[in-house]
Amino acid sequence: MPRHSVPSHERALEALARRGRLRRLAPRTGIDFTSNDYLALAASPELKAAAETALARGVPLGAGGSRLLRGNHAEHEALEVEAAGFFGSEAALYFGSGFAANAALIATLPAHGDLIVFDALIHASAWEGMAQTKAETRAVAHNDVDAFADAVRAWRTGGGTGRVWIAVESLYSMDGDIAPLAELASLADRYDAMLLIDEAHATGVLGPGGRGLAAAAGLEGRENVVALHTCGKALGASGALITSTAPIRDFLVNRARAFIYATAPSPVMAAVVRRALEVVRDEPERRTRLAGQVAAASEALVRDCGMPASGSHIMPVIVGTDARATKLAGAMQARGYDIRAIRPPTVPEGTARLRVAITNGVEAATICAMMAALGEELQKLGPSEAKARGVTPLDPHSKVALPPRYVVTGTGTGIGKTVFAAALVGALGADYWKPVQAGLDGPTDTESVRALTGLADDHFHAEAYRLRTPASPQLAAERDGVAIDLERLTVPQTRRSLVIEGAGGLMVPLTADTMVIDVFERWQIPVILVAATSLGTINHALLSIEALRARGIPIHGVAFVGKANPSSEAAICTRGGVRRLGRLAFVDGLTQGRLAAAFAAGFQLADFTAMPTSAEALHV
Ligand code: PMP
Repeated sequence: MPRHSVPSHERALEALARRGRLRRLAPRTGIDFTSNDYLALAASPELKAAAETALARGVPLGAGGSRLLRGNHAEHEALEVEAAGFFGSEAALYFGSGFAANAALIATLPAHGDLIVFDALIHASAWEGMAQTKAETRAVAHNDVDAFADAVRAWRTGGGTGRVWIAVESLYSMDGDIAPLAELASLADRYDAMLLIDEAHATGVLGPGGRGLAAAAGLEGRENVVALHTCGKALGASGALITSTAPIRDFLVNRARAFIYATAPSPVMAAVVRRALEVVRDEPERRTRLAGQVAAASEALVRDCGMPASGSHIMPVIVGTDARATKLAGAMQARGYDIRAIRPPTVPEGTARLRVAITNGVEAATICAMMAALGEELQKLGPSEAKARGVTPLDPHSKVALPPRYVVTGTGTGIGKTVFAAALVGALGADYWKPVQAGLDGPTDTESVRALTGLADDHFHAEAYRLRTPASPQLAAERDGVAIDLERLTVPQTRRSLVIEGAGGLMVPLTADTMVIDVFERWQIPVILVAATSLGTINHALLSIEALRARGIPIHGVAFVGKANPSSEAAICTRGGVRRLGRLAFVDGLTQGRLAAAFAAGFQLADFTAMPTSAEALHV
């Protein structure tokens, strides 16, 4: 049999392997510090018996169709009634997976004209929903209530009139810290907003009776709260329950595509989840035991590893670079502990970590032995090179996630890249960085962008290299007698959005053996490709897109500059499989006001404020 493969897929896989980011499925081995089976229910006799009795009662394994057709089974409905009672909501709706449920929730409930304000560390399933929503989206710094309030106010001041939806996790899956739910709920009340709470890692474990952290904050049964309770983690089964008011449930039944067009979850699984809820209700000792394990683990983590404890059953051990995290995880696995490295894009760059999950399936003594071993391996690993080199990694404990960042590049020179970059910086109120400026006669690009945006000086980061000759960086550097050191091209960490403007096009030489695109490959920041609309653009744009793809660099989309040319624009976006972000018409007598007006006429700001555009840009 010939092996069929898509060359671009193979190249993308090679690019991942080059960056050490190629993932492979591995068998289960070692002592479990990785699963989300917090209460050790997954293989418990209780759940096994629930499945067996359901089968014996004649409950079918497969639903046979969508809930809206023949797939609806009495077991689904019984579970939903039970779950609404358990979580104190008016209604509940059961989905086949938490991912599908969360994505559906966020894709379906907020409407065109609404705003979703979400925590920057929110789970990939929420990002998935936002990729489909018609609402505007804004990311805000992790767990920063003021940032949530500012985002809502700014949107209202800017003329936003629809409903605001605040989306958070109650216990963050990779950080193990908790959201300020009570404050977010009062913010929601103040602005007549809805609060969407993903309780995935709290359900069954935290809050009164294991009912989650919304219950702990007194938000049970609130009409402006919609919660997601996954059933595949502490509940030991699979699927997820959305708890809400009855009208919201009915709306999801009628509009959530993942609900309507999917085969209903197994009715046997529904019976198992119902039993899991009973176990959580009737056996509080499981939570007490877990709390004891977490206390012992936290103490050991601080004592043996010198690491701060999150306080919950999810304990991140943040070590910085991917390589350090992978090495440390490998060392722990070699000692028989199943602990995995979590690397970007699942977590922000510079915060690669081990995610240690504490469950009831492992004895406290084993947890302590593991922590002692982890302390030894951390010693061997030594201090983070990033710190030693004086680079400031994201402070893992500052809980401030990076706002959206883009690299703006052109299909060639003289395309209108800097003008587009200026328009984007102005519209976003972003920071701007041109790492390498070649050519110092006349205004530099940084000076032009400053003049065209009128933003304060602190939005503009100093170039790493200012070279006199208007030539490729390599040549200009040679003429100036300097050597470009790639280590100096470290992306500044900013609190605002950041627009980085590359030098020339992608294949422009930077040093004897690197090109501009090689630096983009390292950064992994989504690229906006600026293309002309004139003759020849299809060829240049498609070649650029292919080169970006081959190196696994995320592409945010194409921004056109020039007179409308719908057929070329469509050819590029369709053949290249990229998003058309818009077109910036030529502006006569370029001024700040005219440029801003041209940008507003050609682009949707929402396309730049929060949208991830590739799996690489997502938290997974
Ligand atoms: N939300 C969060 C915070 C999660 O961690 C996960 C699973 N990793 C999900 C939703 C998706 O749930 P499921 O695994 O049931 O698809």
